[in-house]
Amino acid sequence: MVIAKVWVLKKHFENFPKTSDFELKKIELPNLKDGGRLKFLLESVFLSVDPYMRPYSQRDMKEGDIMIGTQVARIVESKNPAFTVGAFVVGRSGWRTHFISDGKDIQFLPSSWPESVPRSLALGTVGMPGLTAYFGLLEVCKMKPGETVLVNAAAGAVGSVVGQLAKIGGCKVVGCAGSDHKVAYLKEIGFDEAFNYKTVTSLDEALRKASPDGYDCFFDNVGGEFASIAINHMKKYGRIAVCGAISQYNDSVPQKGPYVQMPMIFKELQMEGFLVTRWSSHWEEGLKALLKWVMEGKVKYHEHITDGFENMPAAFIGMLKGENLGKAIVKV
Ligand code: NDP
Repeated sequence: MVIAKVWVLKKHFENFPKTSDFELKKIELPNLKDGGRLKFLLESVFLSVDPYMRPYSQRDMKEGDIMIGTQVARIVESKNPAFTVGAFVVGRSGWRTHFISDGKDIQFLPSSWPESVPRSLALGTVGMPGLTAYFGLLEVCKMKPGETVLVNAAAGAVGSVVGQLAKIGGCKVVGCAGSDHKVAYLKEIGFDEAFNYKTVTSLDEALRKASPDGYDCFFDNVGGEFASIAINHMKKYGRIAVCGAISQYNDSVPQKGPYVQMPMIFKELQMEGFLVTRWSSHWEEGLKALLKWVMEGKVKYHEHITDGFENMPAAFIGMLKGENLGKAIVKV
């Protein structure tokens, strides 16, 4: 008999999440031997904390539900010959130390995954966030060599991959992030220009200085005030991929404009929201490409690892506050 620890949403978040909004519980898992045909038992090794959990909890969860989320897990017992003991997989079982699966919602790591690449990357650069950068840039921004790409939250899981893929694609890349340490990291991984959006005296001036001719593509992870200013720096026929709006996730009262219509009209811009799940039938292709670039050293990665399942709420809140450089991960 296995006792799983789980984190439950005790109280819906109001404004910024608090640790008291979560509750740690223990649940007894049924024995696999008792009617567990084709089932298998997994233990989480790494869990992901992601911005989407904030708006999705509001939309899809009720108080008392186990927090949504993904993990890299190891199979520890199996009645299913397709899922052998010892294999590592990506699960979508939420904030749990152990869980039982029948194979639905389970993905194997790409077969070419080498020992030298940490498996936690399957939650970051070679996982959903990396794919978000890949499809957002290629399919929504439709970046072309020689163009200038702007990305915000640039030192995070998605943003850091956006910048590096845009460089691989022959673009000039401008990024911004919330600390000088993050800005230094962006330069280190090849961004042409980077600035700290929290300390510049004028965002407008910083965007102009970084690319006086403006931007062809804007990969927007942040929304709000930054996006309202950046839109005025788009070139004619520029493309904006609306990936995230983290500056708005904790608002209980929606922010007011400025509104996008005037620059959209006069610059004839394209602005498209997207969810990475739109390309789920092509994920394997994206993961293969990302893993290859990581192995070749063309895409660098950084992880912000918090130790201990007990610290999941703190890791989640820390990520929303910007404590993470690269992907925020919890190691069980
Ligand atoms: P990150 O690793 O980038 O972590 C979040 C970062 O957001 C923080 O580190 C912080 O960095 C920044 N941030 C937090 N609050 C603000 C704020 N008020 N203004 C500006 N920046 C802020 O997360 P991800 O890379 O996982 O996600 C980035 C974005 O992409 C999110 O908006 C997320 O919802 C979205 N997303 C969308 C997907 C889709 O399918 N459309 C899929 C995956 C992610 P800093 O220190 O720089 O402020």
